Amino acid sequence: MKSIIEHIRLLNCTWKQIFFSYFLLIAGSIAWTPIFSQQELAPEIILLGIAQDGGYPHIGCERMCCNLAHDSDTASTFVVSIALIDPKVKKWWLFEATPDMTEQLQLFKELTDGKYPYLPAGIFITHAHMGHYTGLMELGREALGAKGVHVHVLPIMADYLSSNGPWSQLVQLKNISLIEEKFDSAAVLSASIKVIPIQVPHRDEFSETSGYKIITSGLNYLFVPDIDKWSKWNRGLANELNDVDVAFIDGTFLSITELPFRNINTIPHPLISETMELLENEADSIKNRVVFIHFNHTNKLMWDRISQEELLERGYRLGKQGNRY
Ligand SMILES: [Zn+2]
Ligand SMILES: [Zn+2]
Repeated sequence: MKSIIEHIRLLNCTWKQIFFSYFLLIAGSIAWTPIFSQQELAPEIILLGIAQDGGYPHIGCERMCCNLAHDSDTASTFVVSIALIDPKVKKWWLFEATPDMTEQLQLFKELTDGKYPYLPAGIFITHAHMGHYTGLMELGREALGAKGVHVHVLPIMADYLSSNGPWSQLVQLKNISLIEEKFDSAAVLSASIKVIPIQVPHRDEFSETSGYKIITSGLNYLFVPDIDKWSKWNRGLANELNDVDVAFIDGTFLSITELPFRNINTIPHPLISETMELLENEADSIKNRVVFIHFNHTNKLMWDRISQEELLERGYRLGKQGNRY
């Protein structure tokens, strides 16, 4: 008799345990499901290229840097551009139409398993230097013959494209449809993403130069591939880094020793060494937001392991083609 009661007690206890575990399981899955699915559906950025306008390898270069790229299938890289993805609405936007755009659209397709439309919902352009907009020609009559691809630009850039061939033909034939943006005014792309163009000091021969702040329901980003000097920028790099999680910024040249035959004052880019000096007193958590991009072919960060490790040790990040952020 005693043993039966003990059995029932034991059984009760077990049922309680089973019930409690079951409750925890259900409650846990209810609590975690939205967090997991939100993370899965948060916007993200894929880096589709890291080289400066002239690309890597670079035309006419017979030095070690570009020989390395010619000799290896994997060393060469595309010109800087990023893909901004909103998985919730199954759309994406391209930043910069580079001379490598054809390969970059293919790279995007492969990296995302063809889950997104071949063409982006829009292309944002920073300025009228060759690495940043000339890929638009691929959308024209002689190539894709695209219809009404949205191209987001600032007013002088819009005027430049509309009034100068061959770009004006893209506008006339409606291969592209220009969307004029304003500095400091947000373009709302979806419920999860807005993009704010911000003015950047740069040699503006044909257009103004924009950087972009990308505000999403997940991370916030800064995209400034070209700037003359941080000291000329009234917004301040450290200030801007406070506002974002990831900052893709101009890393064209590593140091002065890279260009022994050039006068540094004539080079309209911050050296990475200068940028690091500027941020020297910032916390590691701020430095770690920086992802350097837009490397000149002479920049050792493209191929030299020791230079790459030194940069990482100082708390900064190195843009890598194909990486997700
Ligand atoms: Zn550039
Ligand atoms: Zn080279």
